[in-house]
Amino acid sequence: MAGNLDTMFRTEETIAAISTVPGAAPRAIVRLSGPDAISIAARLFTSAAGDITELRGFRGLDGLVRLASRNTAIARGAQGAVDIELPARLYLFRRPRSYTRQDVVELHVSGSPPVARAILDSLIDAGARQAEPGEFTARAFLSGRIDLSQAEGVCDIINAANDAQLRAGLAALGGQIHRLCAETAAAIADILATVEASIDLSEERIELGRPECLKETLNELAGRLGSLADDAARLPDSAELPQVAIAGRPNVGKSSLLNALSGMDRAITSALAGTTRDVLSALLTLPCGPGESNAGSSTVRLLDAAGLTSPSDTLTAVAHNAAYNAVASADMILFVVDASEEARSGKMEKDFLLLREIRRANRLAPMLLLVANKCDLTSKVDIERQIAEWKKTDDGSETPESQDLPVICTSAITGEGLDAVRARLREMLHLSAGRSGQVLGLHDRQRRCLIAAADASGSAAELLGSAEEVADVAELVAVELRDALSQLGAISGEIVTEDILGRIFSRFCVGK
Ligand code: GDP
Repeated sequence: MAGNLDTMFRTEETIAAISTVPGAAPRAIVRLSGPDAISIAARLFTSAAGDITELRGFRGLDGLVRLASRNTAIARGAQGAVDIELPARLYLFRRPRSYTRQDVVELHVSGSPPVARAILDSLIDAGARQAEPGEFTARAFLSGRIDLSQAEGVCDIINAANDAQLRAGLAALGGQIHRLCAETAAAIADILATVEASIDLSEERIELGRPECLKETLNELAGRLGSLADDAARLPDSAELPQVAIAGRPNVGKSSLLNALSGMDRAITSALAGTTRDVLSALLTLPCGPGESNAGSSTVRLLDAAGLTSPSDTLTAVAHNAAYNAVASADMILFVVDASEEARSGKMEKDFLLLREIRRANRLAPMLLLVANKCDLTSKVDIERQIAEWKKTDDGSETPESQDLPVICTSAITGEGLDAVRARLREMLHLSAGRSGQVLGLHDRQRRCLIAAADASGSAAELLGSAEEVADVAELVAVELRDALSQLGAISGEIVTEDILGRIFSRFCVGK
């Protein structure tokens, strides 16, 4: 979207987009926003109940929408007979009481994708412009209806991959981040006013505040900002699904597990060690746990991180990099070992070295799960003995790498243990997304701004701590406080560059 940023600021143009998800559904919505939204809609929509240009306020009206575009497949198929009329319901939201604070018109029609597309084409022929991704929400932000943290909340709700992300998006849209930042900014602005006044009044020897009192307040504010940055869950910066890397030595059954878990025949498996050289991926929808709502069903992307061995030729080196990147950026890792192999110390040693490499590549991946695959080829007792041995160090204690490592025995061939892996992944996903039950989530950009604001407030406090009079350090303190305010302003969107806006709104899909 960064390339289309100029377009996004042209709010005098009337934009249109299909705002329902693509594909068959009971209903499709085509939305218009802008100064000509009503007049453009009036060219296509007629109703026995009256003229829409005469309607006041929020109204819904049944009528007919005329497909007038010669560009639509329907019109072309009709060999020139372009005036096709379809039943539709129109909703009118007059400015400023609409999402964008502009005139907004929604046409609700039967959910056939070609019909929605034909209506959109007709609206564009009638003078509307195709909306950019996130442009409706961008207009809500630019008109001051919502602040930037709330706009990001809208995006998080749309892109939520699990219940916790949805809750975080709802909290942001509800103004939780907005309120926290606004309260802190107001307190900092008060101190800044005192500090600036002390510069003007320094000659008169009038004291507006003691440095130690201001220092204490600032330290408290810095602490509040810092703990908000520390405690909030991390929200992904893209609509990407959580990634689960399947790692392990060649031939342990990673591709077979990817296929078996996802139910897809994506990866071609082979009995030759080291055949899988690229990073293959497949989607896996995880089952709902007992008592969970279907609304929160979670999907993850499984990545086959094959090739994480010492690179021996160029092709393997490339695969090694791709696999390394998959592991390094994964949200969760399934570490697979071959349970059928005899517990020969040499082989287990190689598993152990690889696990260490994986831990080093991704210290943040919250949970590793040890999957002992090919359990159909060996007895349970053997597997348990083998794993216990594998986890042990020379002195008999567990190695740091394998401590607290949950183990599940699987067979990609018989399907044994696969439900347990899916259930465990679901559990881990919820733990990682909603750790300690906090509702608030932050994007990396927001977290960086909070930390910078906390640092600037802390520096101002330190300067005040070293002074006898506020006026002695007033100029320097004012610089720090203005910096803190601008960092908080970047979260709310009061002070933000076009580039950042472009990046934020590009996370949206068209029509929102
Ligand atoms: P990768 O290199 O780790 O991706 O391993 P593959 O998935 O290519 O599997 C290597 C070989 O092991 C293939 O011949 C698979 O059919 C076989 N294999 C994989 N999983 C199992 C399993 O659970 N049981 C048995 N018996 N064979 C398996």
